[in-house]
Amino acid sequence: MGKKQFKAESKRLLDLMINSIYTNKEIFLREIISNASDAIDKLCYLSLTDEKVGLNREDYRIDIIVDKEARTITVRDNGIGMSAEEAENNLGVIAKSGSRQFKGEMDSEKAEDLSIIGQFGVGFYSAFMVADEVTVLTRKYGEEQGVMWQSKGADGYTVTPAEKETVGTDVIMHLKADSEEEVYGSYLEVWKLKALVKKYSDYVRWPIHMDVDHQERYETGEQNDDGSPKYAYRMVTENEIINSMVPIWQRSKSEVTDDDCIAWYKEKHRDRKDPCALIRVSAEGLVSYKAMLFIPGEENENAFTGDNKGGITLYSNGVMIMEKCDKLVHEYFEFVKGVVDSPDLSLNISREILQHDRQLRVIGQNLEKRIKGELEKLMRDDRPKYEEFFRNFGVHLKAGICDEYGRYKDFLRDLLIFYTSEDRQITLKEYVENMPESQKFIYYASAPTVKQAVALPQCEEVRRRGYELIYLTGPLDEVVLDNLREQDGKTFCNVVTQDLGFDTDEEKKAAEERDIENKELLDFVKESTGDSLTAVRLSRKLSTQPCCLTTEGGVTLEMERYFRHGPSEEMRKIRANRVLELNAEHHAFAVLKDAFANDKDKAAKLSRILLTLAEMTAGVDVDDPAEFAGLVAELF
Ligand code: ADP
Repeated sequence: MGKKQFKAESKRLLDLMINSIYTNKEIFLREIISNASDAIDKLCYLSLTDEKVGLNREDYRIDIIVDKEARTITVRDNGIGMSAEEAENNLGVIAKSGSRQFKGEMDSEKAEDLSIIGQFGVGFYSAFMVADEVTVLTRKYGEEQGVMWQSKGADGYTVTPAEKETVGTDVIMHLKADSEEEVYGSYLEVWKLKALVKKYSDYVRWPIHMDVDHQERYETGEQNDDGSPKYAYRMVTENEIINSMVPIWQRSKSEVTDDDCIAWYKEKHRDRKDPCALIRVSAEGLVSYKAMLFIPGEENENAFTGDNKGGITLYSNGVMIMEKCDKLVHEYFEFVKGVVDSPDLSLNISREILQHDRQLRVIGQNLEKRIKGELEKLMRDDRPKYEEFFRNFGVHLKAGICDEYGRYKDFLRDLLIFYTSEDRQITLKEYVENMPESQKFIYYASAPTVKQAVALPQCEEVRRRGYELIYLTGPLDEVVLDNLREQDGKTFCNVVTQDLGFDTDEEKKAAEERDIENKELLDFVKESTGDSLTAVRLSRKLSTQPCCLTTEGGVTLEMERYFRHGPSEEMRKIRANRVLELNAEHHAFAVLKDAFANDKDKAAKLSRILLTLAEMTAGVDVDDPAEFAGLVAELF
């Protein structure tokens, strides 16, 4: 069979890997072992439902075999193996998992910085960092025929049928010749391989066997002068298990430090950033389980897997039964990653029965409490870090508030923080605690950005009175407050659309009279400004600004903006009922009034200018900027 070429992108990566001055070559062993372990996981999982596999848990193993003369290291597993097609697809193309991300990074500006290679797991290909030829001899479970995949690196590979007695995979790496920079031969030393396994693969669940030489004391059969037996030493080779196999989450806090767990997480999830929280649980009782959970430091775009969902992996006594289980905790905590291991879980659990599994529900509920507790602690002890967390994942919590008609709102509400006019981010509880006696409502304003919210004329009066204002900027924020309804007995007030509650009865009455007095003028303004307005009113909110735009009815300007990107035409057409409010105390109003009495044409133009000013401060796109420019120019 002829030699096949690697796909272009794979070739480039290979070249880089082989020729780079990459220092951390030793990780190749970890990568190959981890593939072997995954392959065993797969077969072991299959054996739960397929009796024909015929292996027990104790039968699975990984072997490291060194042949100094041939200068090869073989990593052998009795896992699931690969068919010819799989060998071709999985080993011939770098397009999967880690490699895709790697490639993305390589294409970016950092492409020249080869040190980044070290930050990724690069999988099977890392073998070429130390080997000048790699042979994969494999036989897939269920197939009679084996396959041999062979490559000397960048110039391509061959795939040929081959004899293999047992199911599983041998990865045979022929080491490169030693050079001045690198003594590849050192990887043939047993002590070195043993140290590498300890360092990188100690927690691999399956036993890693290797022949290890050690000295043994033996009786020579002769006697010392005093009649005691004579001993001597000899070298014996014994096949040993060189990893401890106990998964990291099964170990106690005294054995494994938090730092170990974090290192494990970063390695496993290929995350360069420390997680912002680690939760370790060892629960005994109605349901026993061990859990090790991580709240990532950022939304993990580095995730090699291509999907960003975190997810928790389920194990039962160390056997993986489900990856990324999304039913254990609710969606609002879906960013949490980690492992749950419980002997009480049934082994052949499926997604359907998962939901109804009582044990799992109990575990899920407990974990949710722990996650919430950890977040509250973070909020208390390290606000800047919590703010960072919230920037990354707050949207999940907000969506959780709105989910299922607000069913989880009371569980989640204290985890929300809002940016306020005091230039800080606080919870609603904190907001209410800080409210002066005289303040009736929790005031908020929403706009696309904080800057635009600050500039809203309607905010002036609230701030003038010394009340704190929440600035909402996320598309979901108004809906979140809608769902929350109140906080500690205080309801919300949208300063843009609602009555601020400042006026006394007398003031209200005076305002109504003033509206009646100016009715003709207000009607005129409405007519002169086309059909975009539902009403024109005198404002009771403005102090220094001449006018503002507000809305009435259920749809606000923020919602309108949100709907504009909606999925259906119908949704995109939804408009807020706009109301123009004029400040009767402002000079502009006096000018308008004068024009209305003496020069209707001018009054109409002034009306249009005022509407545009109001639109601009509300962050609404102006329909006809040229017309507006013309109208303003005429004023000079
Ligand atoms: P990753 O393991 O990150 O997916 P690799 O490049 O290390 O990427 O491996 C590519 C694929 O080749 C694996 O996903 C797996 O399907 C297959 N593979 C590698 N090693 C083995 C093995 N020892 N047994 C079975 N399949 C393997």
